[in-house]
Amino acid sequence: MATQAIDFKRARAAMVRNQLKRRGISDPHVLAAMAEVPRESFVSIEYQHLAYKDSPLPIGYGQTISQPYIVAYMLEALALENPADAIVLEVGTGLGYQAAVLSRFVRHVYTVERIPELAAQARQNLLALGYTNITVSQGDGGYGWRKYAPFDGIVVAAAAPEVPPPLVDQLKPGASLVIPVGSTGHQKLLRITLLPTGDIMTETLAPVAFVPLIGEHGYAETPLRK
Ligand code: SAM
Repeated sequence: MATQAIDFKRARAAMVRNQLKRRGISDPHVLAAMAEVPRESFVSIEYQHLAYKDSPLPIGYGQTISQPYIVAYMLEALALENPADAIVLEVGTGLGYQAAVLSRFVRHVYTVERIPELAAQARQNLLALGYTNITVSQGDGGYGWRKYAPFDGIVVAAAAPEVPPPLVDQLKPGASLVIPVGSTGHQKLLRITLLPTGDIMTETLAPVAFVPLIGEHGYAETPLRK
């Protein structure tokens, strides 16, 4: 299919209606941001005609851009109390799509990507769209980003064997960490909330399938071996 023939705006509106609202996504900030951000700008030309498909897509280096529904679900799950003032950390930038969506309704997004080429391309993608309230860093996001902590929310787009302690340490009281935990095919999306009392509340939200978090608090290079 020739990409110039595709009406991306229409495809995006259909995605929001059919893939998000029909499956129960209702947060108006998330829905508006998903309707605004051009997912086609975060995939290579060969995949642009599939940009609004209900699935992840390859972005190179064995990584993927997340399924639109999962992006919306995770951002809604952050349950930000005051989104316009929120400072949020994302681990696993990929090419920047989820960070872009998040940036439309929070104050600032800090995002960390392990693969240098993806981090560089993500910076370019976000710059090209004029999204300036996002800072991309290259490194192991399992450590979080202490310099800008504590965060109003943390979202992790790769599966960890266990919840990385530094990420829990970098939550503000009342804030949540949304993270897939488990091995291939057996991951659960967890929401870990630091309650104002100092206690930790863990909720299991949904079964999910993510690429592995690689690094000190994740798996070794060989996929899904710690
Ligand atoms: N957030 C992306 C999006 O919006 O489409 C999806 C990212 S992809 C599912 C997961 C990303 O996590 C990959 O780009 C991978 O390189 C990255 N990753 C894996 N381990 C990481 C780590 N320890 N720190 C930072 N990024 C990591």
